[in-house]
Amino acid sequence: MSEAAAFDVIVVGGGLHGLSAALHLARAGRKVALVERRWTGRHASGATAAGVRTLGRDIAEIPISLEAMAMWHRIETIVGDSCGFHAHGQLRVAEKAEHMPALIERQARTSALGYSHEELIDAAELRRLVPALSPHCVGALVARRDGAADPHRTIAAFRRACDAEGVVIAEGCGVETVDRHGGDWLLICGTRGFRAPYVVNAAGAWAGRLAALFGDAIPLGVRASMMIVTERLAPMLDPVVSVVGRALSFKQAAQGTLVIGGGLQGSADLDRERSTVDFRQLARGARAASDLFPAVRGVRIARCWTGIEAETRDHIPVIGLSPNAPGLVHAFGFSGHGFQLVPVVGSILAELVTEGRTRREIAAFAPGRLMQERAVA
Ligand SMILES: Cc1cc2nc3c(=O)[nH]c(=O)nc-3n(C[C@H](O)[C@H](O)[C@H](O)COP(=O)(O)OP(=O)(O)OC[C@H]3O[C@@H](n4cnc5c(N)ncnc54)[C@H](O)[C@@H]3O)c2cc1C
Repeated sequence: MSEAAAFDVIVVGGGLHGLSAALHLARAGRKVALVERRWTGRHASGATAAGVRTLGRDIAEIPISLEAMAMWHRIETIVGDSCGFHAHGQLRVAEKAEHMPALIERQARTSALGYSHEELIDAAELRRLVPALSPHCVGALVARRDGAADPHRTIAAFRRACDAEGVVIAEGCGVETVDRHGGDWLLICGTRGFRAPYVVNAAGAWAGRLAALFGDAIPLGVRASMMIVTERLAPMLDPVVSVVGRALSFKQAAQGTLVIGGGLQGSADLDRERSTVDFRQLARGARAASDLFPAVRGVRIARCWTGIEAETRDHIPVIGLSPNAPGLVHAFGFSGHGFQLVPVVGSILAELVTEGRTRREIAAFAPGRLMQERAVA
């Protein structure tokens, strides 16, 4: 191995969370290397549906999700591009009267906590917002400032912004071993070495394996969420629609294709870095879409795919300093909804590295909560 290149911080993982962390750290004046085993956006960040949703978030996520939403509304000032972000709202629809109490309870709970971003609407307002929706639907919760972005445009924008700030991006560079070198961490990727006192673990589905190289045992599950994209259609809806009791998320992209997801799962193979579509499950998603939007019956599916990402037991991410390894900061386990959080999590990670703490509410995301679960098990 040639002599290890020295940095202030090494970010491992070139998904959107790694890119966002690298960007914020470079803007805080740090010399940053980002190392990515394949290429930027290769995994979850390149496969995502890119929904930008505060609606229905775990209560612990709401403060950072609302802050992230404010950042999305000015994303151009952060990364120099709109990222294709449109704020047409997100809705969670009740198909039957018996589904309404869950929405009513949720709205009451969030407003009792002082939040006003989730609003209950009746069938008439639902019809006005989404005329293409089947008339059997009875009401919904709406977050009007939510929306969606273009994932590939977002990756390109964050990467360009990192390049402009002087982040060294090393692709084809998988971290294989970790060692101590004085006060630094030494990360070995094949014949290349990188050293720095701080490391950000943004290794997505493989973050548990990376954490283990530093001595942190953090048990993680894996998701292989599936997506369907149809042929192009005339404009039929603006907001993103999900449904109580069904794994469905439905939106129309700017170019007219319908993008259908909602968490239906294929299978994942972490060793081979591959995931596989389960067509039976996928058919359930297609059926739900045509139940809700009668106009899509007979529309042709153009493509489908899966993306791999880590899932925590409590479905909220791991964001925080390692309790064991000095200078190691974790950010992973976004459990299927990390895209929206990208702008704010990078800023939180930069604070953790530069100040050793953050002004944001992240106690619920502490890595130790999952480590303790393992100790008890
Ligand atoms: C199909 C699908 C739909 C989704 N829809 C939404 C949505 O609508 N809204 C939403 O908010 N979220 C959504 N998500 C979730 C969101 O996309 C993810 O939470 C987010 O992209 C995770 O980004 P990341 O940077 O943490 O991980 P990734 O993008 O997976 O990046 C991790 C990177 O680390 C690299 N890596 C791993 N190990 C190493 C190593 N040892 N050395 C170097 N590099 C390594 C990997 O190659 C990978 O590129 C969806 C996810 C999927 C898969």
